[in-house]
Amino acid sequence: MLPPLPVAGFTPFTTIDYPGRLSAVVFCQGCPWRCPYCHNAAFRSFSAVGEIPWTEVVRKLWGRRGWIEAVVFSGGEPTAHPGLGAAMEEVREMGFGIGLHTAGAYPEAFRKVVDKADWVGLDVKAPFGPLYDRIAGASGAAQRVFESLQILLASGKPYQLRTTVDPRFMTSEDVREINAEVGECGAAPVTVQTAQPLGLLAE
Ligand code: SF4
Repeated sequence: MLPPLPVAGFTPFTTIDYPGRLSAVVFCQGCPWRCPYCHNAAFRSFSAVGEIPWTEVVRKLWGRRGWIEAVVFSGGEPTAHPGLGAAMEEVREMGFGIGLHTAGAYPEAFRKVVDKADWVGLDVKAPFGPLYDRIAGASGAAQRVFESLQILLASGKPYQLRTTVDPRFMTSEDVREINAEVGECGAAPVTVQTAQPLGLLAE
C-alpha cells in the first residue's frame, strides 16, 4: 500500500488557483527545489511530516461538496509523492474536478498522473538554459521541466504555463525568450506573475 499524501496545508475556497472554477487547494509537503522567491518555503522540507492527515483532508472535502467544483493539488511539489495518483482518484470519486500545480521536477511521475487531472498549471521558471537551474537551485532542472512540458502537451489537457518574474534574476527579455521556446513546442505563452517581497527567502 502506498503511503498517504503528506499534506502541509489546505485552503477550503479559492477563485484564483484553477482558472474559472471554484476550488479548494491541497498543499503537498516537500519540494526538491529552492527558488529564491518561494512563497511556500515551509512546505519544501521532505523531512517534515505533513501537518494534516489525508483522512482529515477527505473529511474537509466532504464538507465542501456543493460549494466548490474542483480540488487543486499544489505544493511543495505534488508529483514527488507516489500517493498522488490514488489521492486524485479518491477526490474524483467524491465528484470533484481536479487541478494540478507542478513545477515539472519529476517528469516520469507527472506522466503517470497527468491523465487524472482536468487542468494543469505548469511553472516555466526561466528559459531552458543555465538560468533555469540557478533559479531552481538544482542542476538538470531545465531538462526536467522541458520533458514535463512535452508530456503535458502530448496529454491534450487544458493548461496554463506560469512564470514568476523576480527582477533580481529575470528580465522582460527572458520572458520573451521563454515564450519563443514554449512557442516552438506548440505551447501557449506563459502567464506572468511578479514575485512579492514577502515571498523572498531569507536563506
Ligand atoms: S518549485 Fe515551487 S514550491 Fe518548490 S521551491 Fe520553487 S517556488 Fe517553492
